[in-house]
Amino acid sequence: MRKVYSHENLAILQTAKGLLEHNGIECFVKNEYHASGGHVGLGSVPLELWVHNAADAESAVSILEVGLSDSSKKPVWVCNKCNEENDGSFEICWKCQTENIDT
Ligand SMILES: [Zn+2]
Repeated sequence: MRKVYSHENLAILQTAKGLLEHNGIECFVKNEYHASGGHVGLGSVPLELWVHNAADAESAVSILEVGLSDSSKKPVWVCNKCNEENDGSFEICWKCQTENIDT
């Protein structure tokens, strides 16, 4: 077994796990219980994603790099017209409806 990813947000971990499963890599989340239990008293324990087969670790890491950066986190962009910051998932400015022409 090999750890391939770690994050304190369970939703992101679940996305990562889904990506690996989609690619036929068996994996599981560690520390899930501690993070959701809230009574451990040691502060937040980062969640970890492990693959069963260490031979899968390398491809798992590259799948996660590509998959997580592409779909879940686009960079914030700044509107040319009103200089408002917009989330990467927005295609037009939330404030003045100007299109993001940088991308
Ligand atoms: Zn704007």
